[in-house]
Amino acid sequence: MLTMSKTAWTNYHSHTHYCDGTDSAEAYAKAAIAQNVAIYGFSTHSPVPFENAWSIKEADVASYINEVNAVKEAYQDRLEVYLSMEVDFVPGLTSIHDPKINSLGLDYTVGSVHYVEKFADGKRFEIDYTHSYFDKGIAEIFNGDAQKCVTRYYELTRQMLTEAKPDILGHLDKIKMHNKDKPHFLETDGWYRDAIMETLELIAKSGVIMEVNTRGMYKKLSSEPYPSAWILKEANALGIPVMINSDSHVPREITGQFEAAAEIVLNAGYKEVRIFRDHNWQNKPLTPKGILL
Ligand SMILES: [Zn+2]
Ligand SMILES: [Zn+2]
Repeated sequence: MLTMSKTAWTNYHSHTHYCDGTDSAEAYAKAAIAQNVAIYGFSTHSPVPFENAWSIKEADVASYINEVNAVKEAYQDRLEVYLSMEVDFVPGLTSIHDPKINSLGLDYTVGSVHYVEKFADGKRFEIDYTHSYFDKGIAEIFNGDAQKCVTRYYELTRQMLTEAKPDILGHLDKIKMHNKDKPHFLETDGWYRDAIMETLELIAKSGVIMEVNTRGMYKKLSSEPYPSAWILKEANALGIPVMINSDSHVPREITGQFEAAAEIVLNAGYKEVRIFRDHNWQNKPLTPKGILL
């Protein structure tokens, strides 16, 4: 019998009840199969050395690994499963080089910046919470200057790419989630373009994969993925590899807005996406209905 190539999706950025997701690893595996996903990576928010509402607790890491490994085994004939973490980059506090993360034997890492500076009371300012909380951070930490905050966010992203290079860069321009109804900046502003281009050049040099994250689209925070279509065009010109991820927190989100994202990626000039299969990074052709695996 001929081995036919098939069209399916992959997702390497996802959450479970160990962090701020809702369900067990098995529930996501079942939903992934139902949504025509062939390869699925679990990437819980890595533990951080301070209080927060959404990261896995240090004490739960061993059972997270056991649970993902059990699903890997049980579903191996239907779904290729990988173990990962979305690792926060907070200079001096945590990164992929943290020995506690380094020693876990993760199949790959997603690196993300969620924290930019801190409030006067020492609490760290996270950029992906509510709009009013974002406004409060801009007012109290950056004297009302959103440009300063956004500039700092991209500086931290570049610092991560230099000092703690993950396999996959998480949601490059997630900070724009606060920019839909009440714009703090324009993506055509010279300083913003410069911050993006400087970051893209570093990504290209580093060999890191840039994800195209659809969470802002299905959460209705943006009409475009993270990153925006214009950034994808520039990234393609620089030869930066991309992959489409949903950053799913509930099972129904696993392939949320994947077809719309595929169209944007194809329109940006990409013909292929990067996948992780049989523990190898490789490129596969992208179509509007999925990846030719
Ligand atoms: Zn994230
Ligand atoms: Zn995430």
